[in-house]
Amino acid sequence: MVYSARSARYEKMDYRRCGNSGLRLPAISLGLWHNFGDATLLENSRALLRHAFDLGITHFDLANNYGPPPGSAEENFGRLLQQDFHPYRDELIISTKAGYTMWDGPYGDWGSKKYLVASLNQSLRRMGLEYVDIFYHHRPDPDTPLEETMATLDLLVRQGKALYIGLSNYPAELARRAIDILNALGTPCLIHQPKYSMFERWVETDLLEVLAEKGVGSIAFSPLAGGVLTDRYLTGIPQDSRAASQSRFLSSEQLTSDKMDKVHKLNDIARSRGQKLSQMALAWVLRRDRVTSVLIGASKTGQIDDAVGMLENRQFSEEQLRQIDAILG
Ligand code: NDP
Repeated sequence: MVYSARSARYEKMDYRRCGNSGLRLPAISLGLWHNFGDATLLENSRALLRHAFDLGITHFDLANNYGPPPGSAEENFGRLLQQDFHPYRDELIISTKAGYTMWDGPYGDWGSKKYLVASLNQSLRRMGLEYVDIFYHHRPDPDTPLEETMATLDLLVRQGKALYIGLSNYPAELARRAIDILNALGTPCLIHQPKYSMFERWVETDLLEVLAEKGVGSIAFSPLAGGVLTDRYLTGIPQDSRAASQSRFLSSEQLTSDKMDKVHKLNDIARSRGQKLSQMALAWVLRRDRVTSVLIGASKTGQIDDAVGMLENRQFSEEQLRQIDAILG
């Protein structure tokens, strides 16, 4: 059926300014790392994208290697974009990345000019786009001079292939240097994409501070710890869950009794707040203004409803924050 976006789609979502830029991102963004490759039925992926957009989620996040196989998430997204979202291109913020292994040989990985230029060209072809809104360097490259990587990001913006630049997985001091280089080149860094959740708090040490100081936004990936910070695993490992799949990023061994004990205690606090654990986990990541958006994944449309439902209950008392810290240790 021809897709027509819900007319009320902008009524509930909160759009937050990304650092000092002119761009506002939805408080909740959708990532296409899982559930958009060739192993997923295209109709499921279509339902997720339509549902997200109907709820005001205007930002979809990809990378060259998302699949499996690598590249297939961009191809499938390109198909759905053409079929469903073509009239809405200017209402969407589409990001992609390069930095992990994408093709054989010395030019298919890391952060050289050779790799980044070729990779973005490939991504644009796969998605059928003239430009992406945000292009990220996906991870730091210990061997390529930072100046080369940043100059390439600047070049790609000047060529019109990306509107904005992002960094992902850069530790604080390296991010600071990269941001300074980009500023000197005249292409400010829009955003940083770190892993951040109740179980992964490294950004609190110094990264968020650096970003605030430099006027750079942030988007937290895996804010639900891949599904652990939800009710998914409270009573076992469901067949259709990520932990039951072949994913090397979440296995049943990671659901230790110590971790699940914390999850149960956090779930009790969420219930006392009248919300689901997944909702509390997202509200917690957004609790300070330093995080612009939470970047969730979803395998079912109901999970997107849960995330958006969080917007109605986002405040924490000091006591609740103390209790959560005590549980997390
Ligand atoms: P999350 O931590 O949000 O985990 C998403 C998973 O949690 C879902 O696929 C689902 O798993 C489960 N889930 C979500 N909502 C609910 C709910 N309400 N109730 C129960 N279970 C729920 O994020 P991801 O790890 O998927 O990462 C999100 C995005 O971040 C990626 O798509 C990607 O765009 C980006 N990313 C970036 C990286 C980088 O290096 N820059 C690295 C990793 C991710 P299930 O399948 O079990 O239903």
